[in-house]
Amino acid sequence: GQRSWGGSPGDAAHHRAGIVDPAKVRMRFPPEPNGYLHLGHAKSIWLNFSLAHDHGGVCHLRFDDTNPEKEEQEYVDAIREALRWLRYDTEFADGLAPESAACMAPREQAHEYFASNYFDFMYRAAEYLIEAGLAYVDEQTPEQMSANRGDFGTPGKNSPFRSRTPAENLARFREMRDGQLPDGAAVLRAKIDMASPNINLRDPALYRIRHATHHNTGDRWCIYPMYTYAHPIEDALEQITHSICTLEFEDQRPFYDWLLARLCEGGLLDAPSPHQYEFARLNVTHILTSKRKLRQLVEEGHVDGWDDPRMPTLAGLRRRGYTPEAIKLFCERSGVTKTGGAWTEYAALEAALRDTLDPVAARALAVLDPVALHIVNWEALMGAGHLEPCHAPVNPHDEAAGQRHFSLGADLWIEREDFMAVPSKGFRRLYPPYTGGDGQPKDGNKVRLKYGYVVQCTGFEQDANGQVTRVLAELIPDTKSGTPGADSVKVKGVIGWVGQADAVAIEVRNYERLFNAEHPGSAELTEELNPNSLHTVQGWGEPSLTQAQPDVPLQFERLGYFVRDSRAFSQDRDHLVFNRTSGLKDSK
Ligand code: ATP
Ligand code: MG
Ligand code: MG
Repeated sequence: GQRSWGGSPGDAAHHRAGIVDPAKVRMRFPPEPNGYLHLGHAKSIWLNFSLAHDHGGVCHLRFDDTNPEKEEQEYVDAIREALRWLRYDTEFADGLAPESAACMAPREQAHEYFASNYFDFMYRAAEYLIEAGLAYVDEQTPEQMSANRGDFGTPGKNSPFRSRTPAENLARFREMRDGQLPDGAAVLRAKIDMASPNINLRDPALYRIRHATHHNTGDRWCIYPMYTYAHPIEDALEQITHSICTLEFEDQRPFYDWLLARLCEGGLLDAPSPHQYEFARLNVTHILTSKRKLRQLVEEGHVDGWDDPRMPTLAGLRRRGYTPEAIKLFCERSGVTKTGGAWTEYAALEAALRDTLDPVAARALAVLDPVALHIVNWEALMGAGHLEPCHAPVNPHDEAAGQRHFSLGADLWIEREDFMAVPSKGFRRLYPPYTGGDGQPKDGNKVRLKYGYVVQCTGFEQDANGQVTRVLAELIPDTKSGTPGADSVKVKGVIGWVGQADAVAIEVRNYERLFNAEHPGSAELTEELNPNSLHTVQGWGEPSLTQAQPDVPLQFERLGYFVRDSRAFSQDRDHLVFNRTSGLKDSK
């Protein structure tokens, strides 16, 4: 029958008092704060927030923190930061004032919820189920319980504790709550049907004993609700309309519905109840989307923390140079399906990055495998020590972004691969004069120094090992880019460069995939790892790079997308460290 619990945290009305406009579409993203969010979570975040947004509704960020041992404040903070970074913190907030929901922990954001704030309600609901003969305390050993659960095709066996009276169960459950039983000694189970073809309905566990300190509730509780029990209640208290989860939970839906129907009958909750909808989880080739396995990588030291730029965590992707726009576009393109098992190509993530960055990213010249280039006639043509000012658009698609400035002098850095002492067939960049197959002398090749002049290779210097130490070239006058005579000399190649006079030293971290395995996660992690996933090089960049900021990726012309490393930036602003985000083309 209907009972009033009257304004306590054990009362649904108490929680619902804080929920604005119950008629709206109301979604939730419910991470467990037991690790950092990864790309799979981004898919779920994007789906929940954009569906809510498209239907004029709201989306809750709910910390599903019902498991005391693995949850930590560090993870709560990291999840909050990831949401803020994706710009889902305030956009769809429902204007709920923190003080209107006194039951909730202090919140930074109006739409933030903690499952652990509902422990009182969950406990009251458990007592109700016991009183109604719908739950019992089972004291079989875990082994007995699992043996008696049966199997697919084999019905389970009733526990000998299943026929306890409600009064016995209530007394025993309170002893559990009061700390009189050790961990594992008993569980509270729903009393449904041990012969159900759906194993999830064979008297699922509702509460277990864990003498552990919880990050939010401290030592107040030593019994904790199971996920399958807690989650429907959380959704109902928050008046979620559409509870979206991954396909693995499809078989849990009957219990979700059973529980909410029973609590509505008992007057603890009001109809309409939320509905669970399932969609396929996101799998991406060469990356792992499992917090547990990502934690293993961190704990075993295979990566340098959760935000290592090789990690598929949102913190790692961010440090690598992935932007919220790129991640959202990737989620949108990867689609939402009801059939599992498909893998999305990692290349699709890079494509989304390039498509979103190309129109907006600032450009810069950089040389990552430098060799010196000396212009032998510079002094004669320009005067000793002269530096010729050059400029280039910050972004060729956006004139309003302005110009960048750097200078050309007698000594430059160019990419080692832009010179060949003996050119291979079809090579169009710098090579010295040589004797052709016909015995006739041939000229050295001409190239344009991008945004500068045309130069013609005249020779090179090498060390005792045959390593090229300096390329020599002559500048061809009146060919400066942007001047009237610029095109008078035709060239087949254009190369990047930086002037030795104003170049800045840069450290560049080139990343390869962390996993060689296409579908990592099926074998031992260490066997699937790529042992050479990081190559650090020392290069040179144009002076504008001193202004580069973390979170704002740049395009190094002809080389790819790069971003200032946030950790190095916060440690030493004079040390220019860049992470390679992706190449300019599909790297497959
Ligand atoms: P993990 O196994 O990595 O810990 P999880 O599902 O246990 O993942 P939660 O913190 O419970 O982690 O996840 C919060 C939400 O994110 C859930 O609703 C879950 O369905 C969703 N989610 C997690 N991984 C993926 C994925 N790969 N694709 C889509 N959604 C995901
Ligand atoms: Mg989970
Ligand atoms: Mg998990």
